[in-house]
Amino acid sequence: MLDIPHIATGNLFRENLKNETELGKMAKTYMDHGKLVPDEITEAMVRERLSQPDTTEGFILDGFPRTLPQAEALTEMLTDLRRRLTCVLHLKVPDEEIVERLAGRNICRLCQTPFHPKFNPFQTCPYDRCTGEHLYQRDDDSPEIIRARLKTFHGQTEPLVDYYCELGLLLEIEGVGDVATVTNRIIAAAKTLTRT
Ligand code: AMP
Repeated sequence: MLDIPHIATGNLFRENLKNETELGKMAKTYMDHGKLVPDEITEAMVRERLSQPDTTEGFILDGFPRTLPQAEALTEMLTDLRRRLTCVLHLKVPDEEIVERLAGRNICRLCQTPFHPKFNPFQTCPYDRCTGEHLYQRDDDSPEIIRARLKTFHGQTEPLVDYYCELGLLLEIEGVGDVATVTNRIIAAAKTLTRT
């Protein structure tokens, strides 16, 4: 819809892991335990990605920043690029629902679309590229690692909600509801922003 790149740090780490790079092997030791990859390494990866030409018309960052130092590094990167953040979306979902959603999640290896037997069963691929046989479950989507990831989130990432609220950039989105309803809330919020 917005036609700008979706830059997800988790996807960048998984891509490195698939290609067996040193970065991927190092990141795996943290990902397997639901912990964050060290800031400096993550920041360098994002800095490199944001320097690529497809980002000039804008981009959506997903999963970054996740710590206060990462947020400060992002401000610095954007200043260097003469850019600024338009807004930060905070999708609010209770922990128990997150466990249920992620523990049942299946992802398409080809297009990365997430499916769920209860919330979003696989019927057809939205990009007409894949069939059900490409679906896989992430190693860190076991209930035990999901709970570790939530603990990391509450300890290290949640403080960013106040940080971005004070900067006047935070948009809260109610994340409970069916996929279409939550998607529409996000699109409606994005439309108000692109008009300003
Ligand atoms: P995600 O795909 O966003 O759930 O991220 C999967 C894993 O990648 C996380 O549990 C972390 O180990 C790592 N990761 C992703 N984004 C970051 C980040 N901004 N900072 C540190 N580690 C990250």
